[in-house]
Amino acid sequence: MRKAYDTFLLSEVSAGLAAKAGSFEPYRYECAHCGEEVRLSAVDSTSMVPHFRHRSGNSDVECEYYLGQYGAFSTDARSRKSKNERAEFYFDSNTKMFYLGLRFSEDEISAYEQLSTIFELRVASQAQPFYILRINGRNFSIDTQRLIPLDKFSCNYFLSNTLNGIKRKYEVFNNVANNAATFFKMQVGDGGYRAKLVRSSVLYTNIPYFIVFQSQSPHWSPVDVCLPSEIKVENTFEFETMGRKFIGKVLTITAKTAQIDSLLSSWGYQLEAAETLTLLWPPAILSEDISLINADAAYLYSTFELQAHGNINVHSEDITRITDGVSKVAVNPRIKVYKKNAELMLETCEQETDAYINLPVARRAEKNYRVTDDASFMFNRSGVLPLNKGVTVQMTPDSEVRHYTNGYLDGIVAPLEQITMSGESLLRDALIHYKRTETLNWDDFKSLYLSQTAFHYIETCEKTGLINSAAKYFIEEGRI
Ligand SMILES: [Zn+2]
Repeated sequence: MRKAYDTFLLSEVSAGLAAKAGSFEPYRYECAHCGEEVRLSAVDSTSMVPHFRHRSGNSDVECEYYLGQYGAFSTDARSRKSKNERAEFYFDSNTKMFYLGLRFSEDEISAYEQLSTIFELRVASQAQPFYILRINGRNFSIDTQRLIPLDKFSCNYFLSNTLNGIKRKYEVFNNVANNAATFFKMQVGDGGYRAKLVRSSVLYTNIPYFIVFQSQSPHWSPVDVCLPSEIKVENTFEFETMGRKFIGKVLTITAKTAQIDSLLSSWGYQLEAAETLTLLWPPAILSEDISLINADAAYLYSTFELQAHGNINVHSEDITRITDGVSKVAVNPRIKVYKKNAELMLETCEQETDAYINLPVARRAEKNYRVTDDASFMFNRSGVLPLNKGVTVQMTPDSEVRHYTNGYLDGIVAPLEQITMSGESLLRDALIHYKRTETLNWDDFKSLYLSQTAFHYIETCEKTGLINSAAKYFIEEGRI
């Protein structure tokens, strides 16, 4: 099979690119047709191209020739055929306990809930489960990890559910040799850290790990080992959980030497150079292991090439190479990049403030505005004035009443636009509404160019010797 579903990238991937990505954790790849676990085959072969095979050995023809719709790679997380749990194991520095992290998608939760499925956790495949949990919307949030504390020690744990009964074995605590360390990859956190079990055999230089040695029996103490000087140990501490004593260390392997290679290989690990992957833009909010951004594109720096259907779950047209190492990637709505130690999950989110900026603002125009509550403010040239309920304010030009709810603007009252009158009509209006008069003096108009309307009006004023003050003002203004 040339493609499979990658449970890490949440996308279909090609066998060729998956082989280059080079990390083969158990349960990572699943058949894109039937959902059964598959493994990469012919990775280093010179005569065959890399391909996926069912781990069980079953060579179902339909699966072998399955290409999906139009042979395209689906980047939709929902193209997954299997409904098996996505599981990781963790150590938490605050509680000094180990956890199983379980995650289900929306479809998986609803399917299991309908069939009243129960998740089961065992220390041996034939043992009674020591932990059970109903898989439903109350116990699991969509695509969000639920941490289950491990209170029973075992080197291996068996995960299953009551629907299909298949027990999936996870090797957690290293058992290859006496006093072998188990490696966990550090994840940054506030006031402590969480470290995720390394499920492949590959470790990387220059990235921090939490490692743990456990006692061989409940009554013994674990033996602290002396590590080569190229392994920088930040701190060492002892703790007890699940009835066992542990020694934990936070360390970084700074160089690849023959001595270190031999030590790691005796524990079942191999060492490689680490890759770097950084989100350059936009700024992100970290929520669990997901970086939330408020943009539809992201700029990433990586020491490796981003390959569609290989190490990133987008199509090739969504990746634009800007310069060496810097790429622009379209984010819609969630992307995941995974290569070696480098891992990044990006998701678009609407920032809260945007929702409020889009609050509808009721607009109206009034000549006089009667204030209906205590949440209105008058804005005018002299500043801002809070308005009391019941007051009626005159809306003068350039003034505005703003109404706020919970601090957000949701209403504006503007002055009713004054109809700008002029000439005959303005004169009539002035004579009707303004009764003040003053002595007529032709000299006041000497320097003005008078309109016919103004001239005739002033002539009529000669009879009484009085002129309407408002009319005089408008004539001087040139509006009559
Ligand atoms: Zn299959």
